Amino acid sequence: MSYNYDDNNIFAKILRGEIPNKTVLETDYSLAFEDISPAAPVHILVIPKGPYVSHDHFAIEASDEEVLDYTRAIGEVCKITGVQPSSGGSGFRSIANAGQDAIQEVPHFHTHIIGGRNLGRMISPN
Ligand code: AMP
Repeated sequence: MSYNYDDNNIFAKILRGEIPNKTVLETDYSLAFEDISPAAPVHILVIPKGPYVSHDHFAIEASDEEVLDYTRAIGEVCKITGVQPSSGGSGFRSIANAGQDAIQEVPHFHTHIIGGRNLGRMISPN
């Protein structure tokens, strides 16, 4: 199995500082920033700093340190944004699109953290 990472994708440019972003959290191995076209009042993207195309790529090839850092970064973003049900937030959805069936637009692994309103059913029936 091989993954081809495109260095020119927009999140790679954000990581290189070539494009601005609204950073919510930065850790050793991860960056979280506001989605430029939010689908809900809370819409944050969490990305690893490493060159991973998709969630499966990251899950298979990232180091233990990267995986731990990324997972904790997602937890921290949920805290920062106040969406955690356990802390009085009204909940959130985490989504990671991969490939054409999921209509992944940016080929750098990212998790959407979306909340702040009722998000409806997870998948439309069509
Ligand atoms: P996906 O379809 O899962 O690949 O989602 C890509 C997401 O990246 C979309 O929600 C876009 O609005 C978002 N996006 C694209 N360019 C930028 C950017 N420069 N800064 C922040 N978010 C972006």
